[in-house]
Formats: sequence, structure tokens, C-alpha cells
Amino acid sequence: MQQKVLIIGGGLAGLTSAIHLRKQGLDVTLIEKDTYPHHKVCGEYISNEVLPYLQWLDADPSILNPAEITHLEFSTESGKKFIAKLPLGGFGLSRYAFDKFLYDKAIENSCNIVTGQVMEVKYSEDTFQVLTASGEVFYADIVLAAYGKRSVLDIKMERNFTHKKSPWLAVKEHYKGAHAEHIVGLHCFEGGYCGVSKTEDGAINICYLVAYDSFKKYKDIKEHREQILCKNPVLARIFNDCVSVFEKPLTISQISFERKDAVENHMLMMGDTAGLIHPLCGNGMAMAIHSAKLASEAVIAFANNKLSRKEMEERYTKEWNHIFLTRIKTGKWIASLLQKPSSVKLASLALTMFPKLLNTVIKRTHGKPITIASAYEYEIQE
Ligand SMILES: Cc1cc2nc3c(=O)[nH]c(=O)nc-3n(C[C@H](O)[C@H](O)[C@H](O)COP(=O)(O)OP(=O)(O)OC[C@H]3O[C@@H](n4cnc5c(N)ncnc54)[C@H](O)[C@@H]3O)c2cc1C
Repeated sequence: MQQKVLIIGGGLAGLTSAIHLRKQGLDVTLIEKDTYPHHKVCGEYISNEVLPYLQWLDADPSILNPAEITHLEFSTESGKKFIAKLPLGGFGLSRYAFDKFLYDKAIENSCNIVTGQVMEVKYSEDTFQVLTASGEVFYADIVLAAYGKRSVLDIKMERNFTHKKSPWLAVKEHYKGAHAEHIVGLHCFEGGYCGVSKTEDGAINICYLVAYDSFKKYKDIKEHREQILCKNPVLARIFNDCVSVFEKPLTISQISFERKDAVENHMLMMGDTAGLIHPLCGNGMAMAIHSAKLASEAVIAFANNKLSRKEMEERYTKEWNHIFLTRIKTGKWIASLLQKPSSVKLASLALTMFPKLLNTVIKRTHGKPITIASAYEYEIQE
């Protein structure tokens, strides 16, 4: 009998694995709580490492005309600038367009997409029971969890990170104005950092992450921006020259960078559900897509009786840790460094003396182009 796969969450990780698994003929249902298209809080810079895989899935986003990004411009709080060529480069594409594009591809591949919010997942005797807020119940042999950074399911499962307060919040808006298409900016300010890059329709994405303790001293986003972000002359110029095209900024809070497990309650966790890298690395989307590939390959091997459930779970955990842990740790280390003015000064001095340092850091927070292995090659790799 054909194995039934259920995917929770239709962001990049969920949609990518839905397309992959449908291409291999599996029976796939994806449950997503929102409808498409919609904006998301995200810097919208995507590393080119995902392209070979997306091309293999026949889901090459190049047809959406994304901004081609080749360089990173970094500025310290005082406005001192450094520029580095991105070893692989990347592209600027709004989540509004990207998620909708992958959703359309999933539909094209006859994936069953259901609108609903998953509230609970039970596992017993090799079968999952998935319950939604509207009372629907789904049964599946395999569940992939791709519901993002934080959900009611994390609290139900008492995942470790839900017990700790997350001190970060994020703000994003699209703007009209001048910004070099080939540059992704990363600009520091007291308590946080801000990404700036162009998207497919010429809009400039400005998205920043700030420690809540620093933000709460100000009345609102506008005052915090004027008093703190604009102390960096690079950001002051950008905010002065650009005009928002959103009615109001999008915000999210409770962003946790704590360690998570790649498998919980026999579900393979993908994307941010398995672990979130600091956005300053600009690699979260690539990791979401890459983890979808790893999980899909493991599921295909399981569905073809090449791996037992235990082996599938162990293999996925091992691969996830091997590929992503160093990136996540490096991101955390850089973020903590940027939180201390004294270490920013030291870093600035080091970058002035050794400009290649920036390239080294970029390499440690990014992967190589994602290579393609079929389910059978996957088995042979052992
Ligand atoms: C401020 C900020 C800036 C960032 N900038 C960048 C960047 O420039 N480049 C980069 O590569 N990465 C960036 N990232 C990281 C990137 O946004 C994420 O890593 C990426 O979105 C992860 O994709 P995902 O599919 O795991 O999760 P998501 O895209 O969050 O998708 C999860 C989906 O699950 C759905 N969902 C949630 N709960 C349920 C439920 N119970 N039932 C059903 N559906 C559910 C949600 O509606 C959502 O559609 C940034 C992150 C932040 C916070």
C-alpha cells in the first residue's frame, strides 16, 4: 500500500518537500494555516546554493525576475562600511512571490493542499493522527513538520525552547527608492541589525532584528527607528531617501535561536522548525529548502523499504546536524559579537586590516550548491 505523507506548514520547507515527494509519486497532503499569497517577515535575500536543487524540481524562481545580488555591504553602528563579494551570490525575491510560486508548483504536481491550522499530532502504532483547529482529523504514515519558528505544536510538545523567553523581535517593510540591485546591506545599530536588498518588482526590503530590551525604551517603531537605527548614518540616509509602500510595518516577536531537535514525536522537522539561524547570515531560506531535500530523500528511502523508521529518523538527524550546526553556531556567535560595542570596534579594526575576513565569515554561514542525489544514491551513500 502507498505510504501517506502529511506536511504541516506550507512555507519554503513544506512546499519544497511537497513538490519533491509528489515528483517521486508519493501521496502528499500539506496543511497550511494561511492562504496565498501573503507577505512574511523576512530579509528576502536567498543564497544561490538552492538553485541546482530548485531547477531539478522544475521550480526555478529565475522566471520571477529576482534581483541578482553579488555583493554584501556591511556597516558598523558608526557608519564605517565594508564591502565583500559573495562567494556564490544570491537573489532578492519577495516571500509574497516565492511562496506563491512554490504553492503553484505543488498544485501543478497534484499535491493536496488543505487550508487549516494543525493543533495536535498523535503517534501510535506506526500511524499519525493529525487534528486541526476546525476539528478535521487526518491520518498519515509519515509526518513532516515545517510550521516555522514557533507554533502551538511546540508548546504542546513542550519543546525546550518554549520554556525560555525569546528576547528578539523583527520588523519588515517594502520601500520605494534608490538602492543598488546587486548589493545586500547588513547595517548594525545598538541592539540589532538591519538587512536591505531589492526584490523582483524593484521594491527595497528593509528588515531588522532588535533585542526587545533595547526596543522597549521607545514609544513605538517610528521613535525607535529615529532614535536608534538612524544613528547609523548609512541607515539614516536609506530611511530618509526611501518611502514605505506598506500600510504599516509587519512585525513578529518571540524569535528563538535556541537549539531544537531535528526529530520530535517521530516527525521529521524541517526549516525553522528544526532550527533557526540568525538572519544576519542570510541563509535561513536556503537551509529550509535544503532540509526539505534531506527529509524528502529520507522519506523516499523509508517508503521504498530501504530504511526502517528508526533508521530514517537517525539518518535525518545525523545529516541535519552535520550540514547545519556549524552555520547556526557561527551565526549565534556573530550576533552576540555585534551586541557588544567594544567587540564591534575590534571587528571593525580586524576587517580594516584583513578585509578577506568578511569572506571567511560568509563561507562559514553558507553552504555549497545543493547537489542532487536520487533516493537510490541516497541509500548508496551509506
Ligand atoms: C527578521 C528575519 C529576517 C530574515 N531574513 C532572511 C534572509 O534575508 N534570507 C534568508 O535566507 N533567511 C532569512 N530569514 C530566515 C527565513 O525567513 C526562514 O529561515 C524561512 O522562512 C524558513 O522557512 P520555513 O518554511 O521553515 O518556515 P516559514 O516560511 O515560516 O513557513 C512556515 C509555515 O507554516 C505555517 N504554519 C505555522 N503553524 C502552522 C500550523 N499549526 N498548522 C498549519 N500551518 C502552520 C505558517 O503559516 C507558514 O506558512 C529571516 C528571518 C527573520 C526572522
